[in-house]
Amino acid sequence: MKFNILTLFPDMFTAVLGDSIIGRAAEKGLIQLNIVNIRDFSKNKHRKTDDYPFSGGGGMLMTPQPIYDAYMSIAGGREKKPHTIYLSPQGAVFNQEKAKELSKMEEVVLLCGHYEGVDQRVLDMIVDEEISIGDFVLTGGEIPAMAVVDAVSRMIPDVLANEKSYGDESHYAGLLEYPQYTHPQEFMGRKIPEILVSGHHKNIEKWKREQSLLVTKRKRPDLLSKADLSEEDRRFLAEFDK
Ligand code: SAM
Repeated sequence: MKFNILTLFPDMFTAVLGDSIIGRAAEKGLIQLNIVNIRDFSKNKHRKTDDYPFSGGGGMLMTPQPIYDAYMSIAGGREKKPHTIYLSPQGAVFNQEKAKELSKMEEVVLLCGHYEGVDQRVLDMIVDEEISIGDFVLTGGEIPAMAVVDAVSRMIPDVLANEKSYGDESHYAGLLEYPQYTHPQEFMGRKIPEILVSGHHKNIEKWKREQSLLVTKRKRPDLLSKADLSEEDRRFLAEFDK
């Protein structure tokens, strides 16, 4: 999958996405990151990319020309334009479902706003979808774009060494993950649950499911109403409520 990222701050991406699992995925060619510096497309003699909003108020807005030309450097001349996402606090809130959906695409363009945002005309011209990473306002779309690239990349086959690891994870199947433990078996007097060293795989799977249900019920009860629960899950939760 190819991620084209339109930004005024390209160095932020190389610093964060160049390492660890995502960096290795890029090295292996499983994902491609094309970071495009919007400023390189400014026709202003001082390479300016922002200006005062006509509506007044404080702050600066990103001007349409450099963004449009940066976008056209990717999409120009193509019959089918790549799906273009504007990272924005006004968008639909990003979640695991959306990460799975985007991971099936071959290519996306991610537009990162900055300052007070972006001139509406260029958004109307190039954007297919707005995505927010939560109901709060950040200084720029770079951190949200990195969050999207990271979450989407992990859903691409072979990016994670062990794909089973995301199947059990929080949100993948609508529940939160069960608690996990590593070595040592006892830490400052606290032992791991005995079932985990019992070697009884069926019981361990049952324990994991029940713990997932309990953790979700305790931390995010709102998720349970949308989760795909079996009769056994419902019985377990009902029993727990008694
Ligand atoms: N004036 C805009 C508004 O009220 O909707 C907010 C602009 S914000 C200060 C600057 C840029 O940060 C936005 O253009 C957007 O790209 C990015 N941004 C801020 N918060 C975000 C969020 N929660 N999710 C995604 N992008 C965000």
